[in-house]
Amino acid sequence: MRRIRSERMANRTIRYGVSLRKLHAGVAAEKTARYMCDMCEKKAVKSVETSIWVCRHCRTIYAGGAYSFKTAAGTMASRILGQFKSG
Ligand SMILES: [Zn+2]
Repeated sequence: MRRIRSERMANRTIRYGVSLRKLHAGVAAEKTARYMCDMCEKKAVKSVETSIWVCRHCRTIYAGGAYSFKTAAGTMASRILGQFKSG
């Protein structure tokens, strides 16, 4: 089976309600967008696999959300880890 690549074609496969199509479009836009890298400060972080994000410029690998670069649970965990590191 051929994979559907473009977002426009992918939206055609979402059926049974305009609200579901709109929800899918928002999630797909969040997943395919580029994000700011913390190391080189360039807008080059892209999703390569489920919850794995890689900076195309400096090749730093981040663990993030499946559909978004940073999640609420992830920011909370990094804050707690920072408290442990500082003392
Ligand atoms: Zn980078």
